[in-house]
Amino acid sequence: MQRRPYRKRRGRGCLPVIIGIIAVIAGTFLLSRLVTGVLSEDILQRLPGAGAITRLFSDDFVVAIDAGHGGNDPGAEGVIREADMTARTAEALYALLDADERFTPVYCHPLDEGANVLDRCKAASRAGADLLLSIHGNSDPGGSGHGFECYPAPPGRTYHADSLYFAQLLTAQIASTGINIRGDNGVRYAYYIDDVNKVIVESTDESVRSDGSFGIVDHAGCPSVLVEQCFVTNSEDAALLGGEEGCKLAAEAYYQAICEYYAAKNPE
Ligand SMILES: [Zn+2]
Repeated sequence: MQRRPYRKRRGRGCLPVIIGIIAVIAGTFLLSRLVTGVLSEDILQRLPGAGAITRLFSDDFVVAIDAGHGGNDPGAEGVIREADMTARTAEALYALLDADERFTPVYCHPLDEGANVLDRCKAASRAGADLLLSIHGNSDPGGSGHGFECYPAPPGRTYHADSLYFAQLLTAQIASTGINIRGDNGVRYAYYIDDVNKVIVESTDESVRSDGSFGIVDHAGCPSVLVEQCFVTNSEDAALLGGEEGCKLAAEAYYQAICEYYAAKNPE
């Protein structure tokens, strides 16, 4: 008769303790997996803000690579297809970054699939990207347009200063390939005045405008630059930076710019 209440009291007392122990073990396991960076991609994507948490515990500098086109979206077509050029360059850049223990490269979308711009930005954010490079090719139906230009997040945006700095490093590195540098110094800002039409200004124009820029630089959530690597409609450009070897050359230039950016932001 006296044992029943005794057993009941013990049951009520133990349950919260057992639940507490399980919670502590589960929490410790989850934290340790985050710290060591081996949490599966599947679980990571389910955790809100997981990218930022991972970054807090990781020394890796995450570089998001956005191949500007792919899948059903071939981009511009000229002497070469823009999507082929952006995929080749993205792949070569990924390999260079992957071989460097300081960096963790991530693609914003599978190279053989298209993706809308906000999904690309979300992918970069989920991965905790510290820097984003979006790779495109330019086009001019007349065939005479040629050269490189790039577009950082414009003045007034959160990541403007770092984006501009990265753009200047990219331009200095790509210039060594011999490609023509367009405009004043190859760095420009783009503003859409409506859904289709945009105005381009040189980077010397630091006025803050409310017009949207390229979606990828407006919504990346980190310093970001969109490069127009060369004109896919110009045979000299395509021969220099559009083919297999040319894309490797461009990727090497981008990699060197990323190394310089990293060194400036993470002094020894
Ligand atoms: Zn493009």
